[in-house]
Formats: sequence, C-alpha cells, structure tokens
Amino acid sequence: MPPDVMMNAAHSAPSGRMGHVWLVGAGPGDPELITVKGLHALQAADVVVYDRLACTDLLAHCRPDAVRVSVGKQAGLHSVSQGGIHALLIAHARAGRRVVRLKGGDPFIFGRGGEEMIALRQQGVPVSIIPGVTAAAGCAAATGIPLTHRDLAAGVSLVTAHRQENAVDLDWAALAADRQRTLVFYMGLAQADHVGMELMLHGLSGTTPVALIACGTTPAQRAVRCLLADLGGVALQCGLVSPCLIMVGQVVALADPDLVAWARLCREPVPVGTI
Ligand code: SAH
Repeated sequence: MPPDVMMNAAHSAPSGRMGHVWLVGAGPGDPELITVKGLHALQAADVVVYDRLACTDLLAHCRPDAVRVSVGKQAGLHSVSQGGIHALLIAHARAGRRVVRLKGGDPFIFGRGGEEMIALRQQGVPVSIIPGVTAAAGCAAATGIPLTHRDLAAGVSLVTAHRQENAVDLDWAALAADRQRTLVFYMGLAQADHVGMELMLHGLSGTTPVALIACGTTPAQRAVRCLLADLGGVALQCGLVSPCLIMVGQVVALADPDLVAWARLCREPVPVGTI
C-alpha cells in the first residue's frame, strides 16, 4: 500500500467523526455503464480506492482534490493484499472520510465485495453497496446474446473457472445436466480447455455453441464463437486476452454475427471479430 496514503489516513482525522465506505460497481469497462448512484458517490468522494478492472476513465468524475489510490488488482497479480485494502479503507473511514471503493463489474460478483463489507462491518465502519453491471450482463448486451430466452434458456449460472488451490472442484455434472441453462464462466481464459473437457465429459454435447468475449464493452472488445468441442483450441488460436468470459449454451447461437466471429478448428485461424 502506498505509505503516504496510509499516513494521511492515519494522521488527519478532521472531526473525530466516522466516515463511510461505498463499495461501488464500475461496470464492465464502458465508462457509461456505471449507475447514476455510483457516479454520484464517485463525485462526492474524498478518497477513491480502485482496481485495474474498474474503468479508470471514471476517475475523471472525481473531485480534483480527491485522493485516488490504485490497488492494481489484475488476474493473478494483487499489488496490494486484500488485508492491505481492508486496512486502507478502514483507516480512511476512521479519519472521517467518504471513501469509494470502485470495483470492476458488480462488487458482489467475484469481486471480493463480500469480504470487504464484512471486514468494514467488523470494525464498525458504515458501508453501503452500489451495484454495477456485471461482466456477464455487459458482454451479453455487447454481443447480442440474451442470457435467458423463453425457448432456449430458463436460467443462467455465473461460475468462476478459477479455483483456489485445495478448493472443491466445480459440480461439473450439475453444470452439464441442465440444457436449459446458460453458463457464464468468469476468469476462465486460461482454463478454457479444462472447462470444455469437463462439460463434455459430463455429457454436454460438443456441438453446444460457445462464445469467448474479451474486453467486453470496451473499444478493445474481441468476441468469437465456436463449438464446445473446439473451445480449448480456439481460445489458444485466437490470441484473446484477459479479461475474458466464456458463455456456453443455446442462446449463444443468437449472437450478432457482426459482433461475434465464427471460429472452427482444423482451418486457418479466423481473425477474431471486432466491433
Ligand atoms: N466483479 C466483476 C468480476 C471480477 S472477476 C464483475 O461483476 O464483472 C474478473 C473476471 O471478470 C475476469 O477474469 C473476466 O472473466 C470477467 N470480466 C470482467 N470484465 C470483463 C470484460 N470487460 N470483458 C470480459 N470479461 C470480463
């Protein structure tokens, strides 16, 4: 954690009054996808603590005198530990400040918002949650893939493909069993091959439509669709980068062909679709 920020937090309690922390969802990347409520919190904040996945363009809305702290989270790399983030939020709130913790997507969907909320509550720090557009919803909109559809998908599961060491493996049988369910895997790019293999091993057809959407809702968006059987190979061939989602299910067949390119293995690699 930047020592100057911690020091400021500890040394300048203005009034002895407890501050407040807002966990704010920044949305999936397009800076216009933050909520009005989130924007208002950002505009009023004394301190903004943000992740790499939270769109940094949004920081233009902060007050000029607001303290901005990057805690630089990205896949596999946490420049500030989770405990360090908790300590930072608590210190600033105890100094009486309005603190926005700006997080990519929605704070409560694979965002560790739950951990931060509990840590703040335990220390008696008032905390409010402002939801955000999660990557699944943002990427679905940006590719024309309806996550549910009366004829094709009665539900949707948001699943992390990235498991802590020693964590129980996903219930692949349950995930593969429901053909009327769209599956959205977060943090799955490096595990794409594993995801495809497990779903097929547990009975999902290799012809099930799949989409990979990287940097969804941003100018760098790249989206490609393929068959489940080709998922691992296509993920390798297409050179997609994180952040990336994998969507699996019949609704993927409805993707806008202008926004999502088709890729098949055993052919020349297809240039990845752009918008
Ligand atoms: N709280 C976030 C998720 C954080 S976990 C949310 O609600 O969206 C990080 C993962 O989210 C990434 O590995 C990726 O799978 C997904 N993700 C986040 N932003 C994305 C984007 N713009 N495009 C595609 N996937 C994204």
